[in-house]
Amino acid sequence: MVKAEGVHKSFGAAHILKGIDLEVAPREVFCLVGPSGSGKSTFLRCINHLEQINAGRLSVDGQLVGYRQKGDKLYELKDSEVALQRRDIGMVFQRFNLFPHMTAIENVMEAPIQVKGEAKAVARARAEKLLDRVGLGDKTKNYPSQLSGGQQQRVAIARALAMEPKLMLFDEPTSALDPELVGDVLDVMRGLAEDGMTMIVVTHEMGFAREVGDALVFMDDGVVVESGHPRDVLTNPQQDRTKAFLSKVL
Ligand code: ATP
Ligand code: MG
Repeated sequence: MVKAEGVHKSFGAAHILKGIDLEVAPREVFCLVGPSGSGKSTFLRCINHLEQINAGRLSVDGQLVGYRQKGDKLYELKDSEVALQRRDIGMVFQRFNLFPHMTAIENVMEAPIQVKGEAKAVARARAEKLLDRVGLGDKTKNYPSQLSGGQQQRVAIARALAMEPKLMLFDEPTSALDPELVGDVLDVMRGLAEDGMTMIVVTHEMGFAREVGDALVFMDDGVVVESGHPRDVLTNPQQDRTKAFLSKVL
């Protein structure tokens, strides 16, 4: 579903991603862990072309991100074509970024109506189902300020799902939450995994990675240091850098 081959990204003179190679299979829960500043968010942002890579190849569902290839030449996609690619990728951030002036259900209905031109009734019916699925069937008319952080994050997940993405990217979705609210959000993500959603999850929740993850990559300083099944990497890390990191977070 996602394939990165020798992906490099720099910001000015700062070389952040230094040749990332990885592959995420369909229906896989792919966990990405590593210290602060190692490039995890940057890599996620490259996947939906919020950042442009400087070298290498990055594809989602067999399509190059942001480019079209003809022969051995690459052509940049137009903004409208990039927007089409992005429609298939849902993203959930540490900060929920809901529209504050819209209710939960209006937040979930917004993109299908504005981006896909969907009929309001259709968007509403799906939004109701999605809010139900994330355990907020009774909060559809609440504004974000009337919801806890964990509830807001679940609305954000429902909002991303409303576009019926092929791939979901999660960037530390629980790290801004009070500890007692983390479980409900992880439960929603576990449910999504059981339904077969392909997910890349940047997280410090090693329990989640171990129980739900199919693959885990440890990244440090812009390179993949170690990868494998979460159980293997977490219980029997091979590299010193992985061991040092895990001893701090486990
Ligand atoms: P964290 O765990 O703290 O979220 P991270 O692994 O997600 O860290 P990134 O946010 O990808 O790390 O940042 C990697 C490096 O890239 C950092 O040194 C950061 O300062 C730098 N960086 C990220 N975005 C930009 C930007 N737009 N311009 C310049 N530097 C950037
Ligand atoms: Mg980050």
